[in-house]
Amino acid sequence: MKPEEKMTGFEGLDLSKEIMQAVSAMGFTSITPVQEKTIPVMMEGHDVIAIAPTGTGKTCAFGIPMLEYISLTDNRIQELVLAPTRELAVQIGEELQKLAKFIPEVRIAVLYGGQPIVKQLNQLKRKPQIVVATPGRMLDHMQRGNVRLGAVHTLVLDEADEMLKMGFVKDVCKIIEAVPTTRQFVMFSATTNQDVLTISWKYQHDPVEITVEATKENKPKIAQYVIPTTREEKYEHLLYLLDADVYGRMMIFTNTKDMARRLSERLNKAGYETEALHGDIPQGKRNQVMLGFKKGRFPILVCTDVAARGIDVDDVEAVINYDLPNENEYYVHRIGRTGRARKHGVAFTLLTFTESVRLDEICKYTESRPDYLKFDDMGVLRNEEKEAFFDKI
Ligand code: ADP
Ligand code: MG
Repeated sequence: MKPEEKMTGFEGLDLSKEIMQAVSAMGFTSITPVQEKTIPVMMEGHDVIAIAPTGTGKTCAFGIPMLEYISLTDNRIQELVLAPTRELAVQIGEELQKLAKFIPEVRIAVLYGGQPIVKQLNQLKRKPQIVVATPGRMLDHMQRGNVRLGAVHTLVLDEADEMLKMGFVKDVCKIIEAVPTTRQFVMFSATTNQDVLTISWKYQHDPVEITVEATKENKPKIAQYVIPTTREEKYEHLLYLLDADVYGRMMIFTNTKDMARRLSERLNKAGYETEALHGDIPQGKRNQVMLGFKKGRFPILVCTDVAARGIDVDDVEAVINYDLPNENEYYVHRIGRTGRARKHGVAFTLLTFTESVRLDEICKYTESRPDYLKFDDMGVLRNEEKEAFFDKI
């Protein structure tokens, strides 16, 4: 071994030269636990159900075996990845593209709703071996006879729990049933639920279960802070946070599309550069906003949970919960947008008294204990005892 060739943990896996090159071009210095456990098992052809915390590199965990599997001389769709949201589908497509950097013959199509079918037909005409899709749009293409799934040998459900929860169960089942029963079927998720287990029981053959617990090592280092506030003062307190000027790139989460839109507009009027991202924005624009944010064209993204799942933007330094999410898991996914790939991150929750009961539930669920902060008269953040604050109300 030459001195500059550092051991990364990928060497022992019998990967092709092209993939090793890509992994190194992506700057990975060590393999993550879910990758170490999943890649060899998938490469042996087993069905897999893998549960691992967000930000631990699950995309490459299935992406690498997928690319190792592909037959470049076969022009049919061999691998299909289903993802719950358009943004996530796009992101998976991009990550696979990076992994395939040194295998130029690999063609990847990304199919999702909201984009003209015609544009996607052009992608399909290029005879992709890999398709990444949201279930609804996939089914649409299947029903129009645009895609044939008879040669699929690997089927991946990413964020399986979320996808099944979003009411995609029927669509997903139809798609699973349209691929050959001999296929390899793998599911990836940050959390599991009854629907995931049911699908596994129904469609997987002897699945290997891989669970990676959140450990200190792979748990994103996210400092969690709660800033008690009132409905009237919330906006002002948000401005204090934004004015602190410490964080380069931030995501602000709201619970409704309307709030995301209004808050973004209000901030823009006040001179902050923000864009809104939510389900009512046309797909073309959503892609543009996401790309702009990833590229650092504007520093603040105001969004609903549509942007929380699986989305990976480098260097989101702070996440702000303008509203406390209604579901415990959303909290985990929101704050998981920062502290990615073992970087540090900060999450703030602007909390009104009525929301405080929900926060207790969330803390129990996440086994976390955020610190309480408050703004003093000068707009400077100070430590605050939780009890002290609520006693005053
Ligand atoms: P998950 O699906 O588990 O939430 P992702 O697949 O989105 O995580 O990966 C999160 C980030 O970590 C991505 O930017 C990805 O490129 C990066 N990443 C993946 N594997 C590694 C690795 N072995 N070392 C460093 N970074 C990695
Ligand atoms: Mg993921």
